[in-house]
Amino acid sequence: MNISKLIDGKAAAARVLQQVKHDVLALQTQGITPALAVILVGEDPASQVYVRNKILRAEECGIRSIEHRLDADCPQDRLLALIATLNADPAVSGILLQLPLPAHIEETRALQAIDPRKDVDGFHSENVGGLSQGRDVLAPCTPTGCMYLLEQTLGDLTGKHAVVIGRSNIVGKPMAALLLKAHCSVTVVHSRSTDARALCQLADIVVAAVGRPRMIDASWLKPGAVVIDVGINRIQDGDRSRLVGDVDFDSALPQASAITPVPGGVGPMTIAFLMHNTVTAARQQAQAQVQPHNSPSEAACLSAY
Ligand code: NDP
Repeated sequence: MNISKLIDGKAAAARVLQQVKHDVLALQTQGITPALAVILVGEDPASQVYVRNKILRAEECGIRSIEHRLDADCPQDRLLALIATLNADPAVSGILLQLPLPAHIEETRALQAIDPRKDVDGFHSENVGGLSQGRDVLAPCTPTGCMYLLEQTLGDLTGKHAVVIGRSNIVGKPMAALLLKAHCSVTVVHSRSTDARALCQLADIVVAAVGRPRMIDASWLKPGAVVIDVGINRIQDGDRSRLVGDVDFDSALPQASAITPVPGGVGPMTIAFLMHNTVTAARQQAQAQVQPHNSPSEAACLSAY
């Protein structure tokens, strides 16, 4: 395997987390301790693992974590009341509502209840709208992590043609918005696209966020394309299961100039940028207190990385 082509997400995430720790220490000298409130509704096993990992990572960075566990049958109003309490608490910098939620809770309503200044997942419509306008807002963590990997690999992305495969609200759409903001020409393909492969063959950058194991092989790629594989798919391999991406790594490797592995590519970046967003939110809230004339959306602005 040509190791030099590998984009090492673990190493990149470690660099981001090192910067986060540094930023936390700097805030602490001003009497500010960033705090992340994590809300888990129900007992979905995967969500429990994700929440545990987020809390552990926060603590490693010096970010105070506050865990709120609600029963699976918790009434929606109780969740909304908890979010309102956390919104009003000046000691809470960021609020993360672990998804998916039980079916009786309206996801959009719950996400919209979070103060956009504390919306460290970047899912509130004020942040979504701000991102689509090219403003510096709290942006979703996975695509922000992909941008970091791309900029570390390619430097300036201006003029590159990027194809994003997938148009979900949490990955595909914000990814496209971030690439546009970085002055790429962006094509988004999805399940209704006519000949997604032919469009992808034109791309300098391919971001795969489909949720279909190893769908994208070398035949989708222009020679020298940079490939970011967001997919995390568990497949059965003989008598054991393992994780693979949306890209057929072995097939794509010779064709790509750089590629993320799965695991160890995009995965570690998501949590690193959750910590980054929490520190940014804490800093912005402190600045908004010093400059009380800032509007909420101005207060939510953050500089790139
Ligand atoms: P969604 O299921 O929400 O979206 C998948 C997208 O892929 C949809 O837009 C869909 O199109 C499109 N699609 C499906 N089939 C095809 C096809 N044959 N050709 C082209 N497009 C297709 O998934 P997510 O965006 O939430 O996640 C995508 C992957 O990324 C998953 O494997 C997920 O596990 C992973 N993931 C990884 C994260 C990380 O931290 N590394 C974080 C989040 C997700 P349409 O809209 O038309 O249905």
